[in-house]
Amino acid sequence: MQHFKPEQALCETRREFGEHGGVTPSISRSSTFTVMDPATMPEIFGGRRGPEEGGCFLYSRHFNPTVDILARYLAAMENTEAALCTASGMSAIACTLLQLCQKGDHIISSDTIYGGTHALLSDIFPQMGIETTFLDCRDLAAVRAAIRDNTRALYVETLGNPTLKIADIPGLSQICRGNGLCLVVDNTFSPMMVSPAVLGADIVVYSLTKFVNGASDLLGGAVCAEKAMIHRLMNLHTGRAMLLGPTMDPRSAFDVIQRLPHLALRMKEHSRRAMIIAEHLQALGVAVTYPGLTSHPQHGLLVSMINQGYGFGGMLTIDCESAQTAEAFLSYLQNEEDFGYIAVSLGYYDTLMSCSSTTTSSEIDAAEQAKMGLSPGLVRISVGYSGNLQTRLAQIERGVNAAGLARQP
Ligand code: PLP
Repeated sequence: MQHFKPEQALCETRREFGEHGGVTPSISRSSTFTVMDPATMPEIFGGRRGPEEGGCFLYSRHFNPTVDILARYLAAMENTEAALCTASGMSAIACTLLQLCQKGDHIISSDTIYGGTHALLSDIFPQMGIETTFLDCRDLAAVRAAIRDNTRALYVETLGNPTLKIADIPGLSQICRGNGLCLVVDNTFSPMMVSPAVLGADIVVYSLTKFVNGASDLLGGAVCAEKAMIHRLMNLHTGRAMLLGPTMDPRSAFDVIQRLPHLALRMKEHSRRAMIIAEHLQALGVAVTYPGLTSHPQHGLLVSMINQGYGFGGMLTIDCESAQTAEAFLSYLQNEEDFGYIAVSLGYYDTLMSCSSTTTSSEIDAAEQAKMGLSPGLVRISVGYSGNLQTRLAQIERGVNAAGLARQP
């Protein structure tokens, strides 16, 4: 297990106060910022002055003081030199990969990633001359064999959406370092519990929309990396984040800043409940996948990568085999039991459930879904922490019985 303590790293970073002594930072809502001396402007445009070089802000599509506070906290949490916040997880991913790759370049990606990212790589990027090879990144030899002269990046999710395959970040990092590739890890499913940069990832991307914010009331994204990469993304003349413009609103940044201090507590409770529910389902003979169960084929790998004390995360899946059974199960759980909501997304305090093949992975065709091991009846559950746990266990057990999912253990 790792000894990095993201909670402590967050505590140790400089806290911001409001400008009148408020215990919360002020929301800086200016779109543009003034300078006292006109000669400062060209210095900012030339990259010689900036938020860290004399506290110079220019324009909020570039850097904004409130958004910058959140970025600084996230960099501390991820143990990276710097970070950048964006309007959504997708924009963080798109800008990062477009900064790393140009026309004619090649990416290797895990075949088990969020459907939107899969569509970006398989549909949009080829139109820009950037090609992607999708493969099962658990097979390190296959990853090595797929590297070409023009390969620039390897893209994985720590816990793959939705099948919860685990990326061997130290193993993949070694391959990347030996071949001059950039390892980009989407850690959306596992904040606090896994710190990809500590394990050798070059860039960590997030959808802040999920666990990090935790209230399902806003969208956001982040790129955590070396300063040089963040500066490249924000270069006023060439930066992909600067020029494509997926800017985080300072009001959203403020909201996430207020929720970051209890992310660790929330993750611990998501994990504790998910583990108990997964164990209960396993005892009922349900086809449950949860990385905390020793029956998960990569449980040992995850144990070797996690930061101690945050458990194994809030995500689990149940294979109902057919979409029809999955839908009946979901309908029963929401409409008869109030167990949770039939909704995409994750990381909310209430439980969110969806059938992945027809929703958040529907961009991926049936043949590819079969290849990546995604069953048409896979139900993905983001386990919330509202309500009484014993009640929740009884509710899901009745749902399992109603849908006929219990088999002999
Ligand atoms: N990464 C993962 C793993 C996701 O599950 C999602 C969305 O579900 C995203 C990225 C995209 O995030 P956003 O919806 O904030 O753009």
